[in-house]
Amino acid sequence: MKKLLSMLIILILVFTFSSCADGKKRYEAESLQVFDTVTKIIAYSKNKSEFTELSEFVFDILNEYHKLYDIYHDYHGINNIKTINDNAGKSPVKVDKKIIDLLLFSKNAYTKTRGKCNVALGSVLKIWHKYRESGIDDPQNAKLPDLGSLRKAASHTDIGKIIIDEKKSTVFLADPKMSLDVGAVAKGFAAECVAQEIALRGYTSVLISIGGNVIAIGAKPGGSFWNVGIENPDNDGKEMPTLQLKDKSVVTSGVYQRYYTVNGKQYHHIIDPEALMPSTYFKSVTVVSDDSGLADALSTAVMCMPYEQGKELIDSISGTDAVWVLPDSNILYSDNFKQYLKK
Ligand code: ADP
Ligand code: MG
Repeated sequence: MKKLLSMLIILILVFTFSSCADGKKRYEAESLQVFDTVTKIIAYSKNKSEFTELSEFVFDILNEYHKLYDIYHDYHGINNIKTINDNAGKSPVKVDKKIIDLLLFSKNAYTKTRGKCNVALGSVLKIWHKYRESGIDDPQNAKLPDLGSLRKAASHTDIGKIIIDEKKSTVFLADPKMSLDVGAVAKGFAAECVAQEIALRGYTSVLISIGGNVIAIGAKPGGSFWNVGIENPDNDGKEMPTLQLKDKSVVTSGVYQRYYTVNGKQYHHIIDPEALMPSTYFKSVTVVSDDSGLADALSTAVMCMPYEQGKELIDSISGTDAVWVLPDSNILYSDNFKQYLKK
């Protein structure tokens, strides 16, 4: 549906809001073109043309990342993650540095999260994806994949078999049955790269949200905080904490984002690499971090660990905090989280 919409609507909406300190105005633009989700840019700019230049720049770069990190589609003249998967066990694929950087980052994220965020889990995730899509299309006949085939697929998820040759700028998957799925890290990693590019160009006071992966570049004019709400996983109108941020990222992973229903029970899209089943510890985990890619990797990984283990991991990384929403909707915070809560 989102795909169809994005094909129909080449959408860059620009709204103007009230002016504020130092004569800058608040502008907003939205696009459905990248990462199969809604991307929103909010920035304080001198005038509309300055903002349009910024938003087009951001959407253009994000579009490039979107194509490179796509696992489902081919693009003429581009070697992307799908090309790497298509060549698993056959030959190394020459790729853009943006792919090499993403995969080096992902290997590091795997180590940091003790394997809970694994971009080499493609063979397992493919099975869940197929059952989820059919279950959504035909809810009466929705089924769960059988554990035997998940286990078989899991024997082809060794991240050490992603062979990266930085000098030649190639990637080779050394197991013909393995495949990459970068869904857990791509949006956050791309957001971080874009933020660095726009900060280099001297922009401040910019907020980008890629499907709820939010990155704040600088503060609002005058130095005040951005207010970013945490989504309520129950969507029941209960108020959730609002965060006050400057130069930070906030990323949420949740069971409500993508799921299907089998025999009245919901099965979502974040798969515990050990259980090979959707994680069951929380309704959502929100991570605040200086690095958007890390926040994305951690939010997915921490969904797959008990609270004590996740908290230990989060508290061990400086500048990184988290909020856990438990199955009974109670909320837990990491040690230093309260500094972000709106007073
Ligand atoms: P979203 O991208 O929906 O905001 P996440 O960042 O948590 O949420 O990423 C979820 C996606 O990551 C899934 O759709 C799937 O493609 C992939 N994924 C699911 N479980 C794992 C896992 N344990 N490790 C790595 N990737 C995963
Ligand atoms: Mg993630």
